[in-house]
Amino acid sequence: MKRIAVFPGSFDPITLGHVDIIERGCSLFDEIIVAIGVNAAKKYKWTQEERFEFIIKAFEHNPQVTVKTFKGLTADFCRAEGARFIIRGLRNATDFTYEQTIAQANAKVNGVDSVFIMCSPEYSHISSSIVRDISRNGGDIRSLVPEGVN
Ligand code: ADP
Repeated sequence: MKRIAVFPGSFDPITLGHVDIIERGCSLFDEIIVAIGVNAAKKYKWTQEERFEFIIKAFEHNPQVTVKTFKGLTADFCRAEGARFIIRGLRNATDFTYEQTIAQANAKVNGVDSVFIMCSPEYSHISSSIVRDISRNGGDIRSLVPEGVN
């Protein structure tokens, strides 16, 4: 049976931290679906189409990675895609605390297990919100994001 995992997030925008997690996840799973959550109430810096294109571009040579958008619960999306796992990246204890109850609820209620990948130390300072701040203020984001994010 194919081992499919969903890597959900806002990806506003995708960063080198996300890329690292996805690439390392490829040795654990046959297929990774990078899933852009669509939330009408949330204001994004980059449009859904831009965020989608950035990820497509970053993984255009990796057939294990596909990109999709979804609305609603991540667990429902996983079921629809036949994925039994959710991948999340962990940078620090704050990430862990936030993720713990969600992961436990997803496992108990939906039977979807979460797999946590510890971020590489060279990327632990990177977050999409830092990238957005730097970008808004005219700074250089090139060392934080994959090529193609502008
Ligand atoms: P969300 O809004 O769901 O937190 P993000 O796009 O910010 O979406 O993050 C998606 C996932 O990527 C989360 O699991 C987050 O912890 C992880 N992540 C974000 N930045 C990094 C990083 N620098 N290194 C490793 N994982 C990261």
